[in-house]
Amino acid sequence: MEKGSSPRKTESWDVVVLGAGFAGLAMGRALLQDGVRNFVILEQADDVGGTWRDNTYPGAACDVPSHLYSYSFRPRSDWTRAFAPQAEIQEYLKDCADAFGLRPWIRFGAYVEGARFDEDAGRWELRLADGREVRARAVISGCGGLSRPLIPDIPGLRAFEGDLFHTARWNHDVPLRGRRVAVIGTGASAIQVVPAIASEAEHLTVYQRTPPWITPRPDRAFSARERALFARIPALRQAYRLALYWGYEMRVLGLAIHPGIMRIFQKIAERHIERSIADPELRRLVTPDYLIGCKRILLSDDYYPALCRENVTLVPHALAAIEGREVIDAGGGRREVDAIIAATGFYASESAAPFPIEGRAGLSLDEAWAEGAEAYKGTAVSGFPNLFLLVGPNTGLGHTSMILQIESQVAYVRQCIGRLLQENVRALEVREDAQARWNESLQRRLEGSVWAEDCNAWYTTQSGKNTTLWPGFTWEFRLRTRRFDEDAWVLRR
Ligand code: NAP
Repeated sequence: MEKGSSPRKTESWDVVVLGAGFAGLAMGRALLQDGVRNFVILEQADDVGGTWRDNTYPGAACDVPSHLYSYSFRPRSDWTRAFAPQAEIQEYLKDCADAFGLRPWIRFGAYVEGARFDEDAGRWELRLADGREVRARAVISGCGGLSRPLIPDIPGLRAFEGDLFHTARWNHDVPLRGRRVAVIGTGASAIQVVPAIASEAEHLTVYQRTPPWITPRPDRAFSARERALFARIPALRQAYRLALYWGYEMRVLGLAIHPGIMRIFQKIAERHIERSIADPELRRLVTPDYLIGCKRILLSDDYYPALCRENVTLVPHALAAIEGREVIDAGGGRREVDAIIAATGFYASESAAPFPIEGRAGLSLDEAWAEGAEAYKGTAVSGFPNLFLLVGPNTGLGHTSMILQIESQVAYVRQCIGRLLQENVRALEVREDAQARWNESLQRRLEGSVWAEDCNAWYTTQSGKNTTLWPGFTWEFRLRTRRFDEDAWVLRR
C-alpha cells in the first residue's frame, strides 16, 4: 500500500487527483471505497477546502442553503444557519477529509506546473514546482472552476501606491478602519464584502460596471431544537433537503427552458430595490437592463442598505485607470483611496488549462480549447486519454448546489477508473464525435436559455460561447453520468 504522504523522487501512482476541495475529497473517498490504494491527492495549498479555504473575505458565506450545499453522503444536522458562513463550510470539509480517512493520501504544498501524456507508456507525467516528477496512469482534476483569481489589466493598477488585493486572497494584515477604500466589482463576492466593511472604512467607493439582480436572502439561524430534531430524526433532515432540492430545481424551467418565467423573479428583485432604497437615482443606478438570471442571481439583505450609507458611494462606471493613489473611473471621475479590493472574479469561461497540459500527439489543452473549452459530459476531452475533469466545461449551475454535479461526475469517473485499472487499459479516450455531439446539443439548448442574453456574464467567452453552464436539471445530468457508456470511448490495450 502506498500513501500520499510518503515522498519519493520520481513517483508512480495509478491515479493522481488534483485538489482537495469538494471535488477532490469526494473523488478520494470514491477511490478508497473502490479499493484503489495507489493514489495521491496533490494539493497546492497547505490545507483542504479549495475555494472555501481561499475565500476568507469578510462576509463570505454560501448562497445555496447548507443542507443542500453539502455531500449527500455526509449530511450534517447541526448547520448553524440556513446559509452557512465560509468558516463553517471550511470546518465541514476538514471534518470530511478526516471522516473519509483521506489525510494520509493528501500531499500538501504540491503545485503542479505541467502535465504530459506519454502515449507509449500510457501514463501521465506531471511536473511539480519543487522539481519532482510524478507519474500516473490517470489524472483526475478537481482544481475547480473558480480557483484562479482574476485581477483585470487596468492601466496603473499594479503600480497602485496603496494596498491592493483580491477578495479570494484577502490580506487580513491590511487595516481598513478609518481608511478610504475602493471595491472593484458588484458580483457575488462584492455584495458580501461591501456590507461587511462599510461601517469600518472612512469612505467606501464601489465601482459598478454592470449591476446585478439581487433578491432577498432568507437566511436565519437554526434553533437548538431544530438541530436536535434533525439529528434525532434523519428522515426529517432528508425531507428538508429534498424540499430544498426540488424548490431550487424548478428554477431550471425559467433559466433554461422558458426564460419568460424569470420575470416573476425579476419582479421580486425590483420590489427588493424599492423596499431597500429610497433615493430614486440610486434605485435607477442599481437596476439592471437585462433579464434576471442571465448573470448569477445574487442574494442579499444588507447590500442595498450599505449603498445607502453616508460614507458609501456607488460609481456606476468601470474602474479605468490608476495614477499613484488616484482611481479614475470610465466616466472620468477621480478619487484618492488608500486601499483597493478587487472583487473581480476568476478566470472561468476563457479558462484554458490551469497549467500546460499536453495530450496525445503533442496536442495542448490550450490549443484544443482555442475556440472555448469543451468536454464530453464536462469530464473528458478527446485527445487527452486518462484525464478526467471534475467541474469541467458546462457542468456549472446557475440555480442550485454544485455538490450535486460533483457527485454525478465522481460516480462517472470512478467507473472510468475501474475500467482503466481492472481491465489493464493503456489509454481510455473519449471519441471526438461523441464529444462533438454532446456539445452541439448543449449549445443548442443554451441558445434558448436566459444565458443567451447579452449581460456580460462570466459564463461566456468574449466570442459569446457559454463554456461553463449545464443547461438543464441536475437530475438529468445525474442520469446521463450514471453509467459508463462504452460506445462513446476508445479503449486501447
Ligand atoms: P464575478 O461575478 O465575476 O464578479 C466580478 C465583478 O467585477 C463584476 O461585477 C464585474 O463587472 C466586475 N469588474 C471586472 N472588471 C471591472 C472593472 N474594471 N471595473 C469595475 N468592475 C469590474 O466574481 P465573483 O463576485 O467573485 O463571483 C464569481 C462566482 O463565484 C459567482 O458567480 C459564484 O458562482 C461564486 N461565488 C459564490 C459566492 C457565494 O456562494 N456566496 C460568493 C462569491 C462567489 P461585470 O459584471 O461588468 O463583468
